[in-house]
Amino acid sequence: MKNQKGLFGDDTTPWEQDDAQTGLVASVVMSTGPEKAFDYLVPDELIGEILPGRRVYVPLGRSNRRVMAYCVAVERKEYGQRKLKHVLAALDQQTLVSSHMLNMTQWMADYYLASWGQVLEAVIPAAVRGNAGTREVTLLSVPPQVAMQLATLKLTDKQQKVLTTLAAASKPMTPGDLADKCRVTQAPISTLRKKKLITSEVRRVSHAHFDDLDIERESAKSLSEDQAAALQTILAQVHAPQPKPILLHGVTGSGKTEVYIQAIQNVIDQGKQAIVLVPEISLTPQTKQRFASRFDRIAVLHSHMSDVERHWQWKRIASGIVNVVVGARSAVFAPTPHLGMIILDEEHDTSFKQDSVPRYHAREVAAKRAELEKVPLILGTATPSLETFYRAKQGQYELISMPRRIGNRPLPAVRTVDMRYDKTTGYRGAISRQLYQSIQRTLQQDGQIILLLNRRGHSTHIQCPACGHIVKCPHCELPLTHHITDGSTVCHYCDYRSTAPRVCPDAKCGYSGIRFSGIGTQKLEQEVKAKFSSYPIIRMDSDTMKKPGSHEAALEKFRNQEVRILVGTQMIAKGLDFPNVTLVGVINADTALHFPDVRAGERTFQLITQVAGRTGRGDLGGEVLVQTLSPDHPAIEAATRHDYALFAERELPFRRDFQMTPFAHMVRIIARGPAQASVELFMQQVGEEIQRFTAEKGGEISQQGPAPAPIEKLRGNYRYHLLLHSFDRHLMRAAVLHCREKITVPEDVLWIADVDPIDMM
Ligand code: ADP
Ligand code: ZN
Repeated sequence: MKNQKGLFGDDTTPWEQDDAQTGLVASVVMSTGPEKAFDYLVPDELIGEILPGRRVYVPLGRSNRRVMAYCVAVERKEYGQRKLKHVLAALDQQTLVSSHMLNMTQWMADYYLASWGQVLEAVIPAAVRGNAGTREVTLLSVPPQVAMQLATLKLTDKQQKVLTTLAAASKPMTPGDLADKCRVTQAPISTLRKKKLITSEVRRVSHAHFDDLDIERESAKSLSEDQAAALQTILAQVHAPQPKPILLHGVTGSGKTEVYIQAIQNVIDQGKQAIVLVPEISLTPQTKQRFASRFDRIAVLHSHMSDVERHWQWKRIASGIVNVVVGARSAVFAPTPHLGMIILDEEHDTSFKQDSVPRYHAREVAAKRAELEKVPLILGTATPSLETFYRAKQGQYELISMPRRIGNRPLPAVRTVDMRYDKTTGYRGAISRQLYQSIQRTLQQDGQIILLLNRRGHSTHIQCPACGHIVKCPHCELPLTHHITDGSTVCHYCDYRSTAPRVCPDAKCGYSGIRFSGIGTQKLEQEVKAKFSSYPIIRMDSDTMKKPGSHEAALEKFRNQEVRILVGTQMIAKGLDFPNVTLVGVINADTALHFPDVRAGERTFQLITQVAGRTGRGDLGGEVLVQTLSPDHPAIEAATRHDYALFAERELPFRRDFQMTPFAHMVRIIARGPAQASVELFMQQVGEEIQRFTAEKGGEISQQGPAPAPIEKLRGNYRYHLLLHSFDRHLMRAAVLHCREKITVPEDVLWIADVDPIDMM
């Protein structure tokens, strides 16, 4: 017989009771502390209030600490001989999580190796949990039997006045309002409440209100042949009993948004709601407008929202009033009561993966939600992730291709500029002769230009030519970047800042000719200003775009052609639709190419293809120049031809041979701590434990590492990682759980497991 003592902190010995007991049992999970679910009895007075998807208070442990928990199931059942404690109270009057969402969060917890409680905590915004924008008010009223005998009561004048005023009021009043109206203090009101001549109740009211966007209406476009075919395929899935996810692979400018919009219209016509997920960076006014100009009652969820507004939007969505929810990653949890479709635009975008617990990917969560709620999921992109593309090839997803641009506009011609040759001439700038000539020609022809450089700051490398000393972050040991705007050197990983050195900081050297080299967007901006001084230019990177609204303001200047040249990091590579952009220059295509990351080639292909897609969108045509030191690299070559199929054809066999994603599953284990030796030792233990476990189970998990992570030190912590690959996802999961249970983690080490990792640094 299993002794339950200790688990629940109960003092009864189970064998004292022999009868199996039956009762209403609530299972709850907690967001911190123990991972497992606990059972509690629902006392009679709380029946109907304790429901799945609501928060409750329960006693925990020997001390019966009162803790908050999420109720995930309520069931009348036999609970054997255990002595169950009682739920103490209900915290929510409304259900926060529907049964579908409970299933989905349970799946997430399992898949991403997180606790269910943690997942629920992440799914329900803090603003909703904290009831932001609402407050509790006490409302007073006079019971009818009191009101009938008002005249017979013996009261002071003030009490009399209060009671008659309240009895005559059309609705309950707060103590404050009542006192104001009668020009009295709280004293007579309190006395009346004590005498039970006035009753009170506490209610939560919202004081928030946000107006709907007021945006000019646009009508539906008549679809191109490709769009019409795409819409038909989608609608067939809308009406399927168990719809298949759809990959909408459409080249840049093929008109994917119009397809989404007409598909959503169909969903709304059936009285259902649609969720549209976009990368955070694409949540621009242009995106909002595209949807708001076509639909009533949309809710846009973004990260700059106040808690009050977030709570208000959540409630609107939950009430079913909202037709279309547009938002970044976490909008996949929007509490739409009758979901009809999920759209995930730019499905390849890495911002859909969350880099804190639970480390979910919105695309996978969306696929699960779509499956549970039996609605279609549309994944749109010009450059599908190989994961999605592979599933489509396997027939798991429906594939729609839109290989042509709207109006049969040609895709822009892409040329590479081999920067290796420029080196021999001693040329040190960012802009090659060819690119210089193209910029000049474009400016003369009144065109606009986008220049992409995926490195912010001025000089990305500060080194003493005398002793070779490289200026690095003291906490991360990574090279600092010089920011000319404030004369500082900045660590791009931990934001450590110091003043730029004038002489070599190495005390033994002190040489005065310290060299700033490597090109960031600030230096590029300077070079462009020097070379094309009569043309206005704007720089967009996370340094210039710190203030809310600056992103929109910059794009507006570019849209109305006040600015002719736009310089920026990858934030300018996506989604922009400006017909007057006739030249795109990629300053250095190789920035991501040599990262120790299985997706380095894929990222490079995506970035070039996406930024190239920003041009040739009008009648003026377009041209793209890609500066690179690796013009023959397959990813760059495929991108210059706009040839996704070619890219995938070359990349997939390589991934298969090395047992990598999308063929095998991957889990990345990262450990960090201030003492290098202890982190290293711990990771070796993890590696060995996994090996032992796998051998015992007779399965196969291949390991890369453990080794120092590409970012070896971050904020004073040494970092090691271990990559696990396997065809058997469940085995890997079991192996990680086994390590969690088996290995004692040193106090100064923290470790995490990232399932389907994206970030390899
Ligand atoms: P994508 O997202 O595939 O890159 P967009 O949705 O941005 O493409 O569409 C490109 C451009 O074509 C936009 O300016 C859009 O308004 C326009 N467009 C889309 N569909 C049509 C259509 N059926 N007729 C005319 N213009 C269209
Ligand atoms: Zn740092």
